[in-house]
Amino acid sequence: MEKYSFWAIAKHALSGHRKWAPAWHTRPPKAHYDVVIIGGGGQGLATAYYLAKKHGITNVAILEKGWLGGGNTGRNTTAIRSNYFYPESTNFFEHSLRLYEGLSRELNYNVMLSQRGALTLAHSPHQMDMLERWSNSIQLQGIDAQMMDIGQVKDFMPLLDTSAGARFPILGGFVQRRAGVARHDAVAWGYARAADALGVDIVQNCEVTGIVRSGNRVRGVETKSGVITADKVAIAVAGHSSLLARMAGMTLPITSGVLQAMVSEPVKPALGGLVVSPVVHTYVSQSDRGEILIGGRADSYPSYGQRGNLPALEDTLSAVLNLFPSFSRLKLMRQWAGIVDISPDSSPIVGKTPVTGLYISTGWGTGGFKAIPAGGDTFAYTIANDRPHHLIAPFGLDRFASGRFINEAAAAGVDH
Ligand SMILES: Cc1cc2nc3c(=O)[nH]c(=O)nc-3n(C[C@H](O)[C@H](O)[C@H](O)COP(=O)(O)OP(=O)(O)OC[C@H]3O[C@@H](n4cnc5c(N)ncnc54)[C@H](O)[C@@H]3O)c2cc1C
Repeated sequence: MEKYSFWAIAKHALSGHRKWAPAWHTRPPKAHYDVVIIGGGGQGLATAYYLAKKHGITNVAILEKGWLGGGNTGRNTTAIRSNYFYPESTNFFEHSLRLYEGLSRELNYNVMLSQRGALTLAHSPHQMDMLERWSNSIQLQGIDAQMMDIGQVKDFMPLLDTSAGARFPILGGFVQRRAGVARHDAVAWGYARAADALGVDIVQNCEVTGIVRSGNRVRGVETKSGVITADKVAIAVAGHSSLLARMAGMTLPITSGVLQAMVSEPVKPALGGLVVSPVVHTYVSQSDRGEILIGGRADSYPSYGQRGNLPALEDTLSAVLNLFPSFSRLKLMRQWAGIVDISPDSSPIVGKTPVTGLYISTGWGTGGFKAIPAGGDTFAYTIANDRPHHLIAPFGLDRFASGRFINEAAAAGVDH
């Protein structure tokens, strides 16, 4: 791995930036691996890194049908937080937030974590009660959460319309101060570079078209460039999970749909932190480039089209303008979408499958960016030991047979 000392950077500047070493190698796939990971998003990349780093399993390939991070990882709005409702979720997401707090050092790659706080708004007395309950539950689990009255909300986010006559009157909210954002590409590239340095093969433009089984045991994968055999296969393909599962003869309780986001033209610093309104279904932050970053709810019908539709966009924008009337003068610069994998209880599905040697990480839906470090860490443990890590044991596929749901629809809905 290239060292980024002052002199190295100066040398590259003087040589016209033509001699940078690629961050990871481009190699043709081998015929056999101990573990093949399908999907080069954050979840797949982090899993490969922790397999190599923590479990010494380096004969690993990541097969990505497009380019690394080109799925939801490179399309998300980068909100990171651990303020879920149920202990199973909070424990898992808090582990992820803690890993994020040390990630730039761990990977020797600046992931630009900025813990600027996330404020969730209440628009009615009932919602204030619910937020109070929610923040109490989080505090009882030892995680930071603080209720805010209307005056504190005003101080935190002066551009919000906090007047009594607002279309959606704001009564208060609750904030997690350690929540924030990180640079999505950097998270993908940082894990990729670190995994590559430990010997993992990263193979882009390599679509998996079939899962090879003998009896109930996985034997490898079919790709557009031929068969690759493997002792273990891990699926981490987000919105394409049902398609991959079907190749292995399984049906998943996953709905794939479109989630859109957009940015305005860049403006001077206007927003200190993130603001979320679960009721009007929108959330807003400001990127390091100055763009106002806007997200909303997933489109209301299942789709594999990686593009959004106008009604959902208009719905989100009208909500934002009601909350922030001064944004009406901003020009919208870009809009994009990703295909998200939504489970019936809005919680992830991670662990073993009924097929021996086949593992799955899916159901991250609208909120799996924040889960990348812990998802990778716990999925790697599960693959290496063939038993679920204790933090993801409650999130197994078997909960849909037993009925032990972890319903985080309220905390995961628009809150990402
Ligand atoms: C608009 C938007 C906003 C979001 N905002 C947030 C947010 O603020 N905070 C948050 O925590 N989360 C957010 N998310 C969700 C988050 O982005 C995802 O949950 C997370 O990135 C999932 O990571 P992943 O690695 O599982 O999936 P992905 O990053 O989608 O990676 C899966 C990869 O699998 C590849 N693949 C698919 N099929 C095959 C195949 N047959 N063979 C080989 N490769 C294949 C795809 O090309 C893709 O690169 C958002 C998502 C979107 C779309």
